[in-house]
Amino acid sequence: MRLILLGPPGAGKGTQAQRLVDAYGIVQLSTGDMLRAAVAAGTVIGQQAKAVMEAGDLVSDDILVAMISERVNEDDCGRGFILDGFPRTLAQAEALEGMLAEKSLSLDAVIEMKVDDGLLIGRITGRYTCANCGVGYHDENLPPKVAGICDNCGRTDFTRRSDDNVAAVTTRLRAYHEQTAPLLPFYREKGSLKSVDGMADIDEVTRQIQSVLKMG
Ligand code: ADP
Ligand code: ADP
Ligand code: ZN
Repeated sequence: MRLILLGPPGAGKGTQAQRLVDAYGIVQLSTGDMLRAAVAAGTVIGQQAKAVMEAGDLVSDDILVAMISERVNEDDCGRGFILDGFPRTLAQAEALEGMLAEKSLSLDAVIEMKVDDGLLIGRITGRYTCANCGVGYHDENLPPKVAGICDNCGRTDFTRRSDDNVAAVTTRLRAYHEQTAPLLPFYREKGSLKSVDGMADIDEVTRQIQSVLKMG
């Protein structure tokens, strides 16, 4: 299965992707995570991306397209993948079409997660993840079952992203509306766009995604 999760920052793409990985045995390809790993490792790409990401702007299409086209060739993508955070521009979407066509692959669905802007700032400023296993939490919406202890791995260190502040989020929302929202009509015209209510609770969003996938 090959899916795209499309939605503004904080829509719940990462949260749902983690669940779909477990349900379908496919890999999550988060370009945000890949870029953050490059920044942490100090690679050339990381050095180019760091300031852009801090500000909340989009990293260049060339970098993203090269990153994804290498990644989808790896063995673990053979059963399928969930694209989380890619494509984010029409140029990226067109490059992805080309990549898939070259391999005679197609997308099963592009899932739009609809969330009003007013909810997103709180989602993002309350977000944190386990520093050990990467599972995501939220101060109010999704705290660990036992305060301060990761449900998944039992460790007690958590991290927050440096770009999860109000200034960078405002820029990211603008980037979404200007550069990413045009992908909605692009995929709608191809007949692959399915929408779910990203404002429902987390389990309900998972159910809506699974029912959309069953309908094919
Ligand atoms: P994205 O990957 O789209 O930026 P995340 O999956 O990281 O978004 O979700 C942002 C924050 O909102 C996280 O802290 C997550 O726990 C929380 N969250 C995700 N989905 C929901 C939901 N349906 N209702 C309430 N909070 C949610
Ligand atoms: P969120 O889901 O909260 O929007 P991500 O983790 O997906 O955040 O992305 C973090 C940052 O990484 C983005 O603000 C942007 O700078 C960069 N980035 C991630 N994916 C892309 C992409 N496909 N194109 C351009 N920049 C990207
Ligand atoms: Zn953990």
